[in-house]
Amino acid sequence: MYEQQLSPQQMPTPQNKSPNSTPSGGHNLPPMGSVPPGHQNRIPMNPDQPGHHILPPLPYPYNALEDIIDEKTLRIHHDKHHRKYVEDLNKAERALQTARNSGDFTFIKHWEKEIAFNGSGHILHSLYWTSMCPPGSGGQPQPATQGYLNRDFGGVHNFWAQFSAAANAVEGSGWCVLGYNPYFRSLEILQAEKHQNLTQWGILPLLVCDVWEHAYYLSYQNDRAKYVKSWFNLINWPEVESRLAA
Ligand code: MN
Repeated sequence: MYEQQLSPQQMPTPQNKSPNSTPSGGHNLPPMGSVPPGHQNRIPMNPDQPGHHILPPLPYPYNALEDIIDEKTLRIHHDKHHRKYVEDLNKAERALQTARNSGDFTFIKHWEKEIAFNGSGHILHSLYWTSMCPPGSGGQPQPATQGYLNRDFGGVHNFWAQFSAAANAVEGSGWCVLGYNPYFRSLEILQAEKHQNLTQWGILPLLVCDVWEHAYYLSYQNDRAKYVKSWFNLINWPEVESRLAA
């Protein structure tokens, strides 16, 4: 069933290398400022130079996710929390650039931790905004997504049972992530503590749910499970499909 639902273009193979790729590297790097295929208009990654990441605008109005996520929560979350991660990522990248220029790596551990935390925070929040859409408008899992969910989890129901259980069980501040692992060529559900701890290397996040208290506390207080259950109705399935295809 899974094999029948995926076209050859949707079945990535390790042999499908870009004609421009070179094993020696360095000669065909994408230009700085370019956007990875499939990510146009999604996430403004790959800035022109270190320390120039920008806060992406929300893809919908601040009140668009009512009554599941209230306007005030979304406004603070995007304008304050996400902005701070972008600013601190830029600060860390510039500090590392200064360190390289001067050869002074005294504070290397500090800045490496800063780019791991804030870079992961910037990426995950950018994905979080586009993982969601106004309640009820996200439809159902699309064909390729459905195929993977059937094969790797035994269907949408079982996927959501695991995803919501994992989201509810994140210790402290963190995330629940549905990702594609190109090494295993399968979907995985992972928890993240803070933004950067607990992962499989290489995972490409497709759908992320923020379970830091700042994502839900104004409306749900300590009832994270109620927020996670409601959050299912915000999932933007066409966007998940696009990321999977990319
Ligand atoms: Mn957050």
